[in-house]
This record gives sequence, C-alpha cells and structure tokens, in this order.
Amino acid sequence: MEQRVDLIGLSETELVSFVESLGEPAYRGRQIFAALQHRRLRSFDEMTDLPKKLRARLKEVARASSLTVASRYLSADGTRRYLMKTHDGLPVETVFIPEEHRDTICFSSQSGCPLQCTFCLTAQLGLLRSLTPSEIVEQVLIALNDAYGTGVKPPRGTNLVGMGAGEPFLNFDSLLKALRIMADRNGLFIVPNRVTISTAGIVPRILDLAKLSDRPHLAISLAAPTDELRNELMPINKRWPLEHLLNACKIFEQSLKPGERFTFEYVMLAGVNDSEEHARQLANLLNRHGLKAKVNLIPHNPADPLPYQPSPEQTVARFKDVLEAKGIQVYVRRPRGRDIFAACGQLAARQERSVLSEVAT
Ligand code: SAH
Repeated sequence: MEQRVDLIGLSETELVSFVESLGEPAYRGRQIFAALQHRRLRSFDEMTDLPKKLRARLKEVARASSLTVASRYLSADGTRRYLMKTHDGLPVETVFIPEEHRDTICFSSQSGCPLQCTFCLTAQLGLLRSLTPSEIVEQVLIALNDAYGTGVKPPRGTNLVGMGAGEPFLNFDSLLKALRIMADRNGLFIVPNRVTISTAGIVPRILDLAKLSDRPHLAISLAAPTDELRNELMPINKRWPLEHLLNACKIFEQSLKPGERFTFEYVMLAGVNDSEEHARQLANLLNRHGLKAKVNLIPHNPADPLPYQPSPEQTVARFKDVLEAKGIQVYVRRPRGRDIFAACGQLAARQERSVLSEVAT
C-alpha cells in the first residue's frame, strides 16, 4: 500500500498542518500549495525555493504527482484527449477543448463507471474505482500545463465540466473537495461558477447540491422522456424514476441564482429517442413540472460496440422545433474531438493508432 500523502489533494490549510506535523513553519505549507496549484509544478525537485533537506523529506512522505500521461491525442479541431494512468495503473481520461473565448476541460470523476447507460462506451469498463481529490485536480493541472506550458497563466478563462468518465455524484465528497481546492485564489482559482457537473440522476445528491451556498452548475442526463425508454437506456432510472428526478430538479431550481439555468442533456439516438412524439413527450414532461431548464441536444457519438447511430441532422432540427414550439430553450451541441474518441460517451481508454495521432510526451 502506498503510504505517501498526495499533496495535490490537500487544501492550503491542510498543507499547512501537514508541514507543521513535519516540524516545519506554516509558510512552507503555503509555499508548497502555491508551487503545486499556482505554479503547477509536479515534482519536489522543481521546487528549488524549498531547502534541499525538506525536499528530500517530502519525497519520503508525500507525492507531488500521482498521475502519468500514457498517451495524448490531438484532434483536427484542436481538442486534446489525455489517457492517464493512476499510480495503481488504472485509466483516467481528460479532454481539453479550446474555444474562441474560453477553454473547457472535461475531467473524469471515476476510473470506469458503474452505471450501465447503453449508449456510453465508458460503461463497458465497469467501475474500476472512484478517483481521489488529488487525481481530480491533477487532471486539470496536466491539461493546463500541456496547453500553455508549466505554470503559464491561461490566456482565456477556464471552464470545467465534470462530464468525463464516471458518475460524479457517486464520488460526491472527493468531487467537492477537489472543486474547493481548485477554487482557491492562491491556486488555480477556478471558481464554482465556472464549473458544471453532469449527473445521470442521483437524486439525493442533487438535493445535497442544492443546499450548498457556493456550488457548481448542474446538468442532468435525460436521454429519454418516458420511464419505459429511460429504464432501457439508463438503468439508474429504475432506482430514481423520472418523477423523482424531476421533483428533485424542481427543488434544485429554487437554488438557482438570477440568470442561472440548469441543463438537461439529451443524447440523440437514431430511431430510438428522436421522434417528434418523443419531443412532445419531453416538452410536456418539463412543462408539467414547470421547469425552466434548457435542453442540450447531443448528437450521439458512435463507437464500435455501441448499437446506435446518430440522428440525422434534419431529425435533430425537427426535434428542436417541436421543443421550441412548446416554449423550451434548446441548443444543439457540436461534437468535439470525435476523431480521437474524445467526445461524450467515447472515453474508454481506447488507443487506436490508426485513427489517432499520438504525440509522445
Ligand atoms: N455520469 C455523468 C457524466 C458522464 S456522461 C452523466 O451521466 O451525466 C456525460 C454526457 O455524455 C451525458 O450527458 C451523457 O448522456 C453523454 N453521452 C454518453 N454517451 C454518449 C454518446 N455515445 N454520445 C453522445 N453523448 C453521450
């Protein structure tokens, strides 16, 4: 068993206590926090402003990094996918998506995923394990360093989405801890308002999130307008059916700040959930609950073993029209990084050299 403490997963206060337990003054803790989270250094050797003796001691009892990048893939659209490995050899995937005015980093909350959504490739891995706060934060540090250079301030704002592998709400405490660390102004300073967490619908955690004063935004993966179809596509629906889920959303809605909306994500699967009738059912469901949420239509990202095809563009357009006619705000999400298996639902530790441009790191 690895006994060393992962310092990336400690808040500044915890780091101060940690160095004090080694007999060091408090300011060393603040110095190390800044080295890890602001300068984004991932080894003690690089922290040359620390005495050599302290660095040697730290190496014995702690770690400044626990993830390694196994492969890095670049998409034609600029998206980058990182296949990382934990210290115990499990896959972790992170996606960096550059946009004109901001960058988005999509991080994973678990290695694999225990939910069995039929349209998602990650499901096929099963749950390997939940990630630690340190492993969640380090994904972001690695992606930023790779995009801009070690410690270089990102030129645009950074948004985070918890939409990578895993169900974030089944790793709730570690997720919140990681978000608090990343929000620290002495570190990454990515505040919750810049973060969106996506859930397949773990109802008790939606209610918990609603009670937090400084919380990230919420997105809910719906994928179907009826229990019958949702049970089939997202078996978690049997545990928390639509009625429960939407009642929780209604409660969550009361916690929204002015101008804040929450999002329903609806993956469009050809001939499965994309008819005009499905659109009417979806609109009626949301309107019946008086939800003022917006709906993101996500074109299905195909992957070999998945038995679905993306809905044709015209079908998506018709679906959108029906929703809009019933007063629902709709966006069609543009898929990013499909060519490198970086798009939603495609994260499953794949390493196809024929399709992907691999860059040695
Ligand atoms: N477990 C969380 C977060 C991971 S999935 C959740 O379910 O929300 C992130 C998003 O990707 C979800 O909205 C999901 O519906 C979508 N998704 C999964 N597989 C997909 C696929 N093959 N094509 C397009 N979107 C997909």
